[in-house]
Amino acid sequence: MSSIRLTISLAAMLLTACAYQPSRYIPTVDESTVKPDLYGRFLGTSTLYFTDGDSGLMVDAYLTRESLLSNIINDIHSDREWVETFLKEKSAISILNAVVISHTHFDHALDVQSVGETYPDATIYGSEQTIQLLSNVKYKELSEPKTQFTEGNFKVTVLRSPHVEKTGSQKWVEPKLNAAMGGEAYADPGDVYSVHIAHPAASILVIPSAGYLAGYNDLEADVVFMGIGLLSNELRQPGLYNNDIDYIEEYWQKAVLDTCAKVVVPVHWDYFFSEVRDKMRSGR
Ligand SMILES: [Zn+2]
Repeated sequence: MSSIRLTISLAAMLLTACAYQPSRYIPTVDESTVKPDLYGRFLGTSTLYFTDGDSGLMVDAYLTRESLLSNIINDIHSDREWVETFLKEKSAISILNAVVISHTHFDHALDVQSVGETYPDATIYGSEQTIQLLSNVKYKELSEPKTQFTEGNFKVTVLRSPHVEKTGSQKWVEPKLNAAMGGEAYADPGDVYSVHIAHPAASILVIPSAGYLAGYNDLEADVVFMGIGLLSNELRQPGLYNNDIDYIEEYWQKAVLDTCAKVVVPVHWDYFFSEVRDKMRSGR
């Protein structure tokens, strides 16, 4: 099995201090021996799946992880057949009420249409830019800074939040790379969102892009899935965020300490031009 399973409810019971400082250990469980009330599954980058057995919710949809060379030769595209095989057979995902797309960069949204076709009863939530990627699937457009809805047993709040800043060189290189892959549809991220998920077993905050800042002071979360992609940019280019405080410390303060999170799961750390497998490469 190529994905990592994380027990949310069990970990939340074990760790109760508000300002918990995590150790290096991230709890994982063998799915054959533990049946938690609610679990989350890492499907690569910030693509996550949550289920309690009755309801299912996905955040982001990037599953066709072709190599960079293949993307340049063939143009980046969703492999509809692979998406269905990966989700239904390899990941055994049979229940999906909704998908929330955080923004339209390809590493978050490439497979949104394929996921919608694979699970035709699921509703896809996304920005205007995300909706433009869809045809003949169920969707609802996110147009407000804060949107709340219920899908199955999940109460979902989608919060507009900034994208992580890119360095000067990244701003120069990435559009050219994107164009070389034929990825114009994914060049503009559109509005960017984080996702809070309330469930009777646990509350969850997903921050797909490491740009989470002020404005949501009343959020609480047992578990934070914390995007760390490009978070080191501040170290590469001091002053990038143009403020007096350490951006990474502020991010941790807002995302973890202020939410009283008990478990933090880093996401968007992997090199995403390769398949999800047991041993994955980190990005840079
Ligand atoms: Zn992005």
